[in-house]
Amino acid sequence: MADPLIHTVDLTKVYGSDETGVRALDKVNLNVDPGEFLAIMGPSGCGKSTLLNMLGALDQPTSGEVWVNGENLAHLRDVDTFRARTVGFIFQLHNLLPTLNTLENVETPMQGRVASSSARRERATHLLNLVGLGDRLDARPGQLSGGQRQRVAVARALANSPALLLADEPTGSLDSQSGEEILELLANLNRDQGVTIIVVTHDRRVAQSTRRIVRMKDGRIITDYLLDDPLEEDLRMLAASRLGQAVLGGNHLPADTLSSEEQEILRRLLVRLDGDGGPPA
Ligand code: ADP
Ligand code: MG
Repeated sequence: MADPLIHTVDLTKVYGSDETGVRALDKVNLNVDPGEFLAIMGPSGCGKSTLLNMLGALDQPTSGEVWVNGENLAHLRDVDTFRARTVGFIFQLHNLLPTLNTLENVETPMQGRVASSSARRERATHLLNLVGLGDRLDARPGQLSGGQRQRVAVARALANSPALLLADEPTGSLDSQSGEEILELLANLNRDQGVTIIVVTHDRRVAQSTRRIVRMKDGRIITDYLLDDPLEEDLRMLAASRLGQAVLGGNHLPADTLSSEEQEILRRLLVRLDGDGGPPA
């Protein structure tokens, strides 16, 4: 089996002093193989961004280890080179430079890495075609829709062919249609280009695209499972719902709205998921 692209060992981050500080990450152990597309989900403040920042060497752990692409990030000789070469970031707000056009925004990270300006232009054009913006090379961010700007940010993140794409709530500022398109774009990049992608999202529809969902709570990973079928994620949600819990637990209050036959069908479905990693908390 291939070595994991990402490997963390008891990764811990405490903001502030150890006694009174916020334990944003608490002994997180995560392995991600090359080519995976995984979603990190969980309530606000549970440590999702902190985890992503550690994986991208944007911040340093309090204790524990992060290995990416065979390198222990604590021992990097040149953090800037690691960031530029190995990871691409996509944030909720695209952070494009407003005075540069689409093409120039995508070329920027290649400065100093791709020597000739014509090669930079060629690659940026290729990437913008890939994200469906081949006809907007001259547009400035202000002339694009939110969804289009986020596509530019995706192209920019791919500029230096990173081994890993980290996306922190990339659909958070978009309407639902554009959000869906960005998730679809990420799924296509993963499938067609083999890019390893970790996406933090609240969007349940990401289950249609990812194969693996990691759920966090209070700085810890509480569940981590592979989906064989997108429908499974819906069943897990149902199992975790009050109705699902009532049916599984034999509590007759809310489940009373269903006939006994309906309850039995639902129980049989939910029980299949119960225990194999458990429904989301
Ligand atoms: P999420 O992305 O899941 O919403 P974060 O990783 O941003 O959560 O934050 C996890 C916890 O760490 C939260 O309690 C947050 O307030 C705290 N935190 C994040 N960044 C800092 C910081 N720079 N200084 C102090 N506390 C922080
Ligand atoms: Mg966050």
